[in-house]
Amino acid sequence: MLKTLNWKDTPWQGPLAWLLAGGLALLLVSLAIQRLADRHLAADAERLAVGWGQQLGRAVPDFDRLFLGELPGPQAQERLGALRGTAGLLHFKLYDREGRLLLASESMGTAPREADTDPASRALAWQVAKDERPATQLLHGSDASQPAIYSRAWVPARLGQQVVGVVEVVVDQTQLAHTTATSFQRAAGVAVAAMLLCMAAAAALMRHRAGREKHVLDRVSYLAEHDVLTGALSHGPFNQRLQRACAQALPPGKAAAAGETPRGLAVICIDLDGFCEVNERHGHSIGDELLRRTGQRLQGVLRGADLLTRLAGDRFGILQLGAADSPSVTALVERIVDSLAQPHQLPGLADPVRVSACVGAALHGVDGEDADTLLHNAEMALLRAKASGRGAWSFYDASLDRTLQERRALAADLRVALQHGRLKLHFQPVYAGDGSTLKGYEALARWLHPTRGNVPPASFIPVAEDTGQIEALGRWVLQTACAEAATWPAPLAVAVNLSTAQFHRGQAIVNEVRQALLDSGLQAERLELEITESLLMQHTEQVLATLHALRGLGVRIAMDDFGTGYSSLAYLWRFPFDKLKIDRAFTQGLGGDPRVDVIVRSIVRLAHSLSIRVNAEGVETEHQRDALRRLGCDELQGYLLGRPAPCERLTHLESEVVGVVVPDVVLA
Ligand code: C2E
Ligand code: CA
Ligand code: CA
Repeated sequence: MLKTLNWKDTPWQGPLAWLLAGGLALLLVSLAIQRLADRHLAADAERLAVGWGQQLGRAVPDFDRLFLGELPGPQAQERLGALRGTAGLLHFKLYDREGRLLLASESMGTAPREADTDPASRALAWQVAKDERPATQLLHGSDASQPAIYSRAWVPARLGQQVVGVVEVVVDQTQLAHTTATSFQRAAGVAVAAMLLCMAAAAALMRHRAGREKHVLDRVSYLAEHDVLTGALSHGPFNQRLQRACAQALPPGKAAAAGETPRGLAVICIDLDGFCEVNERHGHSIGDELLRRTGQRLQGVLRGADLLTRLAGDRFGILQLGAADSPSVTALVERIVDSLAQPHQLPGLADPVRVSACVGAALHGVDGEDADTLLHNAEMALLRAKASGRGAWSFYDASLDRTLQERRALAADLRVALQHGRLKLHFQPVYAGDGSTLKGYEALARWLHPTRGNVPPASFIPVAEDTGQIEALGRWVLQTACAEAATWPAPLAVAVNLSTAQFHRGQAIVNEVRQALLDSGLQAERLELEITESLLMQHTEQVLATLHALRGLGVRIAMDDFGTGYSSLAYLWRFPFDKLKIDRAFTQGLGGDPRVDVIVRSIVRLAHSLSIRVNAEGVETEHQRDALRRLGCDELQGYLLGRPAPCERLTHLESEVVGVVVPDVVLA
């Protein structure tokens, strides 16, 4: 987790800090201003003293003689006396170059006595004369006889360029000091106000920057913890909370023993049915929107502290806290299934999109104790739910584990088999209703596994569909079947089974069929494609368009396994099928329950009235063959007439049917 120092975390926060800073600033500014004011006063005193020195030289007759120790005459005394009191001049003294006092303003008529001045002043006067540089002192009056603030300044007195002595002046600066202090205080006030303003501006800037930084940090940590698309928790944090919940869980049994309330939890996995088709049909932005809305709906059905995560693609996980028994999990699962079954009105699409979801659940204490096991088992339960159809849900069952592992191994082996061309096609003859005229063959995939032996298509086709290998497998079957059929005498036809999953990529199947015909040179009317009603149950419009496009190539379309689905009849009028193949379950029921005969007869009549030919599968006995012939079936297919066999065994001869069921052809 990112951690930066936040100004809000420091003690420099709040009004107290600002008060302290302001007070300190005020103190510093006041001190600085005091110093400035003092210097200003000292400079002023010095300027005054220099002025006085010059003034004395000009205004006092025989001024130079005063430095030779002469006392001023009456006129000079008058002038000197007149100068006193003006511009704050209190006293003045004259010293010679050696610092000896020559004249004091208080006793101008008499020679000063040594006691009239202090040695420090004399020493200063001597120093000033020697250095030819003025000296100043700023002083505060210590009693009522002295001004509150006054300056003493010693300046060299010159005659031409030569220093002849030193003038000491004492100037009352109380008034000036007051004026200076007032104006400096004002200036200080303005300066402090300006400083506080600057600090406030800086603080506002810092606060703004910190706010922005906090916003960025919040966003970064949100993104680190959540799936951007759906807002669900990321896998890492979800797993941590799941682990914590497992550590704190208390199953009902233990809780009862300890006299405490049970703390249960459950893990629920959810997978959308038909999400891939939505993605492929409407594009990824619609797919994303669907996922976003799925996330919202799931958040909507959660309660309290329950957590949602996106495990992968269209697969979500939920940690249900407080679920102590299966009824509470069931309640949530049912809410999920119901919520996700509602159609989505997505932007830009005229029709609502319908996807359902399968759900698997694992309860802590029953289906696992730790996070990994619970997640794994919830996924197992999900797979079981998916196997039983759309919108299904299931709890975990230990036997599922083995099934799934077996399925994974089979998928891996199938991949290798496909890559190395280990799959074969067998062809089962299809005869005319008379049972003797050969019409063609149905291509059936065969896989002889080195250790598993003969793996039936009913096992590996669903695995191929689940793992996406059906595309490669289907393409191979089409190519091989067409290439083989092209070598047969015309008009023998070949029927190829198409899986629903082969229609997921829109019209891609049309191109594949066209390509197979082109590559093999087989006439289109000799190729028949068998589909099941499950295909028509999904996204009918797109599927119908694809079927029409296929038919546009000249191939025939047959509905396989007719009668096994829920509503086979409902699909008959939706597409002009060329043929329907009655499932072998009906064939096997003939001659037993008379109602089967009635149903088969009805199917045949219905199909014929729609100009659809009828094939009956699974003919194993002569009795079945005869019954089907009587019932008006156009084509017959089954072990009685011929088992699926590799192409090298096909003779293309008319049937010489025997009443015995021959064993299946041994695979090469
Ligand atoms: P299906 O299309 O209904 O194929 C007919 C199945 O019935 C074949 O089983 C065939 O061997 C079997 N059969 C034929 N005559 C008789 C009979 O008289 N009695 C009995 N009991 N069975 C008979 P198979 O080959 O095991 O295929 C099973 C299913 O696997 C097929 O059912 C078809 O749905 C699928 N399948 C087979 N090959 C392919 C393929 O290349 N592509 C796709 N997508 N599916 C295939
Ligand atoms: Ca078939
Ligand atoms: Ca069939």
